[in-house]
Amino acid sequence: MKSFSYERASSVEAAAKAAAGTRGAKFIAGGTNLLDLMKLQIETPTHLIDVNGLALDKIEVTPEGGLRIGALVRNTDLASDERVRRDYGLLSRALLAGASGQLRNKATTAGNLLQRTRCPYFYDTNQPCNKRQPGSGCAALGGFSRQHAVIGVSDACIATHPSDMAIAMRALDATVETVRPDGATRRIPIADFHRLPGDTPHVETVLEPGELITAVTLPKPIGGKHIYRKVRDRASYAFALVSIGAIVQPGGTGRVAVGGIAHKPWRVEAAEVDLPKGARAVTDTLLAGAHPTEQNAFKVTLVERTLGAVLAEARG
Ligand SMILES: Cc1cc2nc3c(=O)[nH]c(=O)nc-3n(C[C@H](O)[C@H](O)[C@H](O)COP(=O)(O)OP(=O)(O)OC[C@H]3O[C@@H](n4cnc5c(N)ncnc54)[C@H](O)[C@@H]3O)c2cc1C
Ligand code: SF4
Repeated sequence: MKSFSYERASSVEAAAKAAAGTRGAKFIAGGTNLLDLMKLQIETPTHLIDVNGLALDKIEVTPEGGLRIGALVRNTDLASDERVRRDYGLLSRALLAGASGQLRNKATTAGNLLQRTRCPYFYDTNQPCNKRQPGSGCAALGGFSRQHAVIGVSDACIATHPSDMAIAMRALDATVETVRPDGATRRIPIADFHRLPGDTPHVETVLEPGELITAVTLPKPIGGKHIYRKVRDRASYAFALVSIGAIVQPGGTGRVAVGGIAHKPWRVEAAEVDLPKGARAVTDTLLAGAHPTEQNAFKVTLVERTLGAVLAEARG
């Protein structure tokens, strides 16, 4: 690991200001992703700003009847919160499908949204990777690509976003709240928060340098059946090949977000009008323009079949 300096942030504003004012600075929350990447020298921050002392660990009801989840709420606490389990079951289920109990005890809401890809070439510093080293190339193109993205890809990167929680947040229409280094706040709809790779796959979100996530808010509950189904190579402790987060209403209408297939949680609202017609109709629109490799073309069929199983479960 490269040497770095360390400070504990005393306030949200001070944390954002320090991050913007110190070249190579990064926030650290649970550290479950960042520390692993630092040990491999994939992330090499010169300065760590520990945000764990900030009072961002509460889950509160909003005036609109939704929930405001502090950036530092641990994944375990979020999944087990009574209001989340009752009104946002999809979120609870997605969280529990991810990582392990020990990791969820440390991992935070903000850190989960910002975790980096699990593309094996991103982790292998002997391989070219535009995300790790911009301009170096992409070893996954023409390489081992079974786990990679099938839609929204570019010639520069075909990595997926690995978070389970983010899929639920997308289906629930969450909003990310931040503070910028100048003290100004902003609210970013989750649909706009993560970026597609384009020519700059190392730029993964719309956050500006030094911008700190303070909370994620959920609109008031919309009812319906909440289902999260994750298809993976092992029954536990593995990232999704494909995952479906769905909220299905009694008439068969609803929402669907998909994980494991794109650089960001994948949701196409126009596809959801076809939910009462079944999985095939939805998938045709949801994956229109898909560009799989030979090795991961199976994911297109897997999305349709997994969605079919989810809709059957919703019908009871
Ligand atoms: C073995 C293993 C298996 C896993 N399996 C899964 C899985 O199946 N599904 C899944 O979804 N995840 C999985 N994970 C990933 C895990 O969920 C993430 O590591 C975790 O959520 C990251 O949260 P953290 O608080 O530890 O983030 P950190 O590691 O502390 O930070 C991650 C990033 O977020 C930034 N950051 C943190 N807080 C803020 C903030 N408030 N504002 C701005 N930036 C911030 C940091 O600078 C860093 O860049 C797994 C991880 C491991 C190690
Ligand atoms: S897919 Fe993206 S993360 Fe993986 S090697 Fe290519 S550029 Fe790097």
